[in-house]
Amino acid sequence: MADMKAYVQQVLDEIVKRDPDQKEFHNTAKEILTSIIPVLEAHPEYQKDRLLERFLEPERTVIFRVPWVDDNGDLQVNRGFRVQMSSAIGPYKGGLRFHPSVNLSILKFLATEQVLKNALSGLPIGGGKGGSDFDPKGKSDGEVMRFCQSFMTELYRHIGADTDVPAGDIGVGGREIGYLFGQYKRIRDTYEGVLTGKGLTFGGSLARTEATGYGLLYFVKDMLDDNNIDIKGKTVAVSGAGNVATYAIEKAQQMGAKVVTCSDSNGYVYDPEGIDLDLVKDIKEVRRGRIKEYVEKHPKAEYHEGCKGVWTVKCDIALPCATQNELDLESAKTLVANGVKAVGEGANMPSTLDAIEYLQSNGVLFAPAKAANAGGVSVSALEMSQNSERLSWTFEEVDHRLKGIMDNIYAQAKGCAEKYGCKGNLLAGANMAGFAKIAEAMHAQGW
Ligand code: GLU
Repeated sequence: MADMKAYVQQVLDEIVKRDPDQKEFHNTAKEILTSIIPVLEAHPEYQKDRLLERFLEPERTVIFRVPWVDDNGDLQVNRGFRVQMSSAIGPYKGGLRFHPSVNLSILKFLATEQVLKNALSGLPIGGGKGGSDFDPKGKSDGEVMRFCQSFMTELYRHIGADTDVPAGDIGVGGREIGYLFGQYKRIRDTYEGVLTGKGLTFGGSLARTEATGYGLLYFVKDMLDDNNIDIKGKTVAVSGAGNVATYAIEKAQQMGAKVVTCSDSNGYVYDPEGIDLDLVKDIKEVRRGRIKEYVEKHPKAEYHEGCKGVWTVKCDIALPCATQNELDLESAKTLVANGVKAVGEGANMPSTLDAIEYLQSNGVLFAPAKAANAGGVSVSALEMSQNSERLSWTFEEVDHRLKGIMDNIYAQAKGCAEKYGCKGNLLAGANMAGFAKIAEAMHAQGW
């Protein structure tokens, strides 16, 4: 119906007018809103509710100064953020990103994605995102600790186990979560599950480290099985070498696929024999080194500068697990020309909108991030449950639940796409299923 299209367009125009420089946020809003029109048509009351306007405006945004002292004794100043996007179905939940590119536009885009992703998980978690333009690359442990302590010295007053529960994201791993948790505890004098992704000795969950990568493969396998494609023996190209990529590679290998690439922000490795994961873990997790060191141990493998080249490698399945917008239209065309069958997003919004359209219109199965990478935040929610119970579950139990959650997300995205007449379009299905849940809760709770 023209009416709802006009309403959507009006809302999109308004957000551009209000914040003209927030391109990443506009893109995500456009992607979501244009695909949920069938849900809006089924619920005309949402328009009167101004539901889209409310959905796209964070409930609260905190921006703060983060002063810290570097190893030379000089004072540095960064900017910290927390976007508390939606508490419609639970406490705000979502990662912290430390990277020079962090700004309000990127965090609003990530927070909006997080709201839908968390709704799809089936668990009672709202959505948020935060971080800083601090660059942990090249910083000493002491500098990272002092930065994290200063960051938490402001953030602590805005979060809590039942209010807002941050976790890691790019640039924030176990080390940073440890420093952040220590500072929260020191200031608040309370022991609560205020962060997830904690160390196993102080309330972390088994399988949280593996969760995003494993979950991605559970989802991708469901999608392949549904289309009678056996993952066993397939060639897989993975980008990234961080937490998501590492455990995506591990699970893909366990499922019998052959992973031939991984990358970091400098370049990519192509190993026709199959990626040696122990070596990648040693380089990235133990030594915090660069991925080009891989070829020192495996001279038959190739290292190429520049990370986009990873998509020129011939593969059946491509798993972008590095960062947003890393797979553009040109890469999508190369992948299709090389016969790719499926693309599964491990990072948040790694494919550009035109790339997604091209892949889908060329018959490539597409697993969108907000559904396919929901395993990380889902196990975060399981960590919250364990913290509340003051118990810890076994690896097998958490992994089993993770598998069930991913199967359920796949079924929801698939089912919703079918129900609203866009069979096979898991991106539209995920948007509609996630939004329908949030919208119902928002409508029920009034404005
Ligand atoms: N940063 C992850 C994501 O994008 C995990 C968030 C969390 O565990 O809260 O989903």
